[in-house]
Amino acid sequence: MAMAMVSHLSLSSAAALRRQCPHALRTVWHRSSSQHWGGVKRQSSSATITQAALQIDLVPCLVDNYAYLLHDTASGTTGIVDPSASGPVIKALKEKGLTLDYILNTHHHWDHTGGNADLKKEYNAKVVGPRADQERIPGIDIALRDGETWMFGEQPMRVLDTPGHTRGHVSFYFEKNKSVFTGDTLFSIGCGRLFEGSPEQMWISLSKLAALPDDTLVYCGHEYTMSNAKFALTVEPQNGALQSRAQQVKELRQKGLPTIPTTMREEKEFNPFLRPFSAELRKSLKVATTASDIDAFAAVRAAKDRA
Ligand SMILES: [Zn+2]
Repeated sequence: MAMAMVSHLSLSSAAALRRQCPHALRTVWHRSSSQHWGGVKRQSSSATITQAALQIDLVPCLVDNYAYLLHDTASGTTGIVDPSASGPVIKALKEKGLTLDYILNTHHHWDHTGGNADLKKEYNAKVVGPRADQERIPGIDIALRDGETWMFGEQPMRVLDTPGHTRGHVSFYFEKNKSVFTGDTLFSIGCGRLFEGSPEQMWISLSKLAALPDDTLVYCGHEYTMSNAKFALTVEPQNGALQSRAQQVKELRQKGLPTIPTTMREEKEFNPFLRPFSAELRKSLKVATTASDIDAFAAVRAAKDRA
């Protein structure tokens, strides 16, 4: 049931995306039914996830932020994505016997850059961030533009401009490693608030991310999955994939485990912000079947803002 839905909706999305942003997409969402997917092992916050020699550790910060410690084993390069504060990062580095080479910021908000100054001072680390927003990234050293590939040790990292939450927001895509760090653009079962962008901008940003391969692991900036699931069930109560995910999230959170990473394929199955074409969602939000995906997306965002 869920598979059939995915195939149908993925194809309609692909057509919609080609219409809306034909040049932004290198690939389109594709059928997942023919692809093998081995599933993702849910990890505790202290566990390490290694793919293609890039080790990734979740570093919980503040109340519900996640920073991510990256270590490229081939080159010994170490980085941290979106350090809210320096304390938890220094602790994680000490536990692993590592020092820090890079600080990677998806956007300028303090809960993603609060640790920059201390970490830079402590380790002489270089700050990497969006060129489009370089004046707001504290201590930036390396400003990267949309589509640029930068080497994190031996790991190619592609920068994707994903504005909407802020005007200069970027996501970091490690193609070899099949991982994307989405900051506050894409959450599991959710997306960021539109502080500085339009629904159209955010929909194009999310579409860029959704066009990444299905087995891309998604690492987002916050543990919001439980409340996101609650909202999503109000707009797509019959979505079987969403029902299963909501149950899984409940169990993980009861055990104090993170719900991250998730996968792009899963998000396309149950994230309402990637599903504005869903008939059930449109019916729930009283969006006409003839309305554009952008308008339907805007309705989902507005409903979540009111929730
Ligand atoms: Zn933010």
